[in-house]
Amino acid sequence: MCLAEVKKNLEARGFTTGIFATAAEAADYLDSVIDRTTVGFGGSMTLQQMGLYERLGSHNEVHWHWKEGAAERPAAARAAVYLSSANGLAETGEIINIDGAGNRVASTLYGHDKVYLVIGRNKLAPTYEEALWRARNIAAPQNARRLGKKTPCAVKGERCYDCKSPDRICRGLVVLWGPMMGMETEILLVDEDLGM
Ligand code: SF4
Repeated sequence: MCLAEVKKNLEARGFTTGIFATAAEAADYLDSVIDRTTVGFGGSMTLQQMGLYERLGSHNEVHWHWKEGAAERPAAARAAVYLSSANGLAETGEIINIDGAGNRVASTLYGHDKVYLVIGRNKLAPTYEEALWRARNIAAPQNARRLGKKTPCAVKGERCYDCKSPDRICRGLVVLWGPMMGMETEILLVDEDLGM
């Protein structure tokens, strides 16, 4: 899949975008442009793999979904800048996220001056329908398994069973058709596999 084509389609929707050959280059870029501000981190394997919490934390006030403490998520929700990833990205530019607690998707919609979404090439699919399929049948089951949930997708195999389990992690679905009004959303496309 051609990242330049995805970039063009994202920009036509109003997103700011950049293409990076490696996750290390994307991390260098974020480390250079995010400085002396407050930064919220969504629960994202991509961000964890990139070591961004530690790196940005050396010169910013950082708050992460995965850190212990009742104050962390509200503080992340109030941060000027928010970082996350996506569960699926269509080549046509729709960005798809599925969430359980809702704080991660809420922050892609409201409450920050700027949102950065770091998206590896493995998240790409040719169409909106295929990106949605990926989010539901690849990303969500892998996350359920990683979290040790007792859901059919985690126990039986790599697809969604649209379960009614109390452990269901898929509680809400957000599709970004463009940046939300009043909030800049920058998409970093990385030509490496990142996250789930
Ligand atoms: S709805 Fe249930 S079965 Fe489907 S991916 Fe989410 S947790 Fe797994």
